[in-house]
Amino acid sequence: MAATCRVCDSTDLALVLDLGEQPHCNSLLTEADLARPEPVYPLRLWFCRACTTVQIDYTVPKETMFSEYLYVSGTTATLREHFRQSAEHLVAELGLQRGDLIVDIGSNDGTWLKAFQASGMRALGVEPASNIARQAEAEGVPTLNRFFNAGVAREIAATASPRLVTAAGVFFHLEELHSAAEGVAELCRRGAVFCVQAIYLREMLRETAFDNIYHEHLTYWTLRSISALFYHHGLEVFSARVVPIHGGSLELLVAPAGTRPVERSVTAMLEQEAAEGLGELATYEAFAARVQRIREGLPRLVRRYTDAGKVVYAFGAPAKGATMLNSCGIGADLLRYATERNPLKVGKFMPGSHLPIVEEGSVPDPDAYLVLPWNFLAEFLQRNRGYLEQGGAFIVPVPEPRVIDASNVERELVLAEGPVGNRGAS
Ligand SMILES: [Zn+2]
Repeated sequence: MAATCRVCDSTDLALVLDLGEQPHCNSLLTEADLARPEPVYPLRLWFCRACTTVQIDYTVPKETMFSEYLYVSGTTATLREHFRQSAEHLVAELGLQRGDLIVDIGSNDGTWLKAFQASGMRALGVEPASNIARQAEAEGVPTLNRFFNAGVAREIAATASPRLVTAAGVFFHLEELHSAAEGVAELCRRGAVFCVQAIYLREMLRETAFDNIYHEHLTYWTLRSISALFYHHGLEVFSARVVPIHGGSLELLVAPAGTRPVERSVTAMLEQEAAEGLGELATYEAFAARVQRIREGLPRLVRRYTDAGKVVYAFGAPAKGATMLNSCGIGADLLRYATERNPLKVGKFMPGSHLPIVEEGSVPDPDAYLVLPWNFLAEFLQRNRGYLEQGGAFIVPVPEPRVIDASNVERELVLAEGPVGNRGAS
């Protein structure tokens, strides 16, 4: 049964999608782990009829998910460039000056903060994963190795007044959602603006990107639903835009209610969400039906290769890839390896499917790759044009399973680099 809404405490939740019992998407396994039973947890998506927040109900303890972490922002060129541009935009938009303090919540390896440091600003990261916090420190980004919450915010406020507080790809991870929002409110009341980036549920629906659903993502935001959360803490969104990262993300600027004029971008986005039915259960039921078609169609497409004796690997071993493979029942019987660039993942096995993760380029190219981090498709197509031109193929799972090869790579590149292209994720 559903518990209570993470935002408004209502118990009036409707089950939208049940992806079964799945392991934690980032708990990669060692060879020794393979001999032991793998912990699995329910992965179910719910819609709150009271406040419209879309969320999963089961919370894997945050210490299991985030104390050691394998996702490093700086690994992809797309993300580094995204954060550079985003910092540039914020410096101009908010008139930030040299010496101003920027606090980044869930700062990862400090990729975003480094972009502000390059403009002469001071940086402070808050990052719970000790391995990654150490790495950021070693690279010159001061980092508190903590989970951000109201207590941490008060500690920061006691000695410093940040001009800007940022959070990218983290506000949907937060188990202590209200405590974190209260911490943000505390810093905003002392003069900071809050900039939050989160996967935009509207774009996730548009792409049928259900692989964004995993245990680390507790909530899936629209502008309307995240505004309800902020409202609860005396905060107001005054600027809203969509940035082309992680398949299309919200970038919102937030301040204490009534302290800044609310831009037209906010009302326009709310109107668009209402017109598209993002506050209605039926919209999510239609999404679930499209997901079901992918869960059936993708394994069928992969089998077309394997039944003909061809070899298929997974391209990449991202968190979302675990959801995709485990939801579709695609395992080591169909895919031989997952190839990766992130050295923290190489040598391990993907959760659930148990695919061995090998270094990209260390094994001969297969007949086809199933692209799991499809949100970086443009980058991959460019990097692997030679492979495609020599007869290779990329199987892309969303919005509908399809094959990219020499015959259509040009067209796909144009599409992927279009105005909403270059879809960057986790
Ligand atoms: Zn609710």
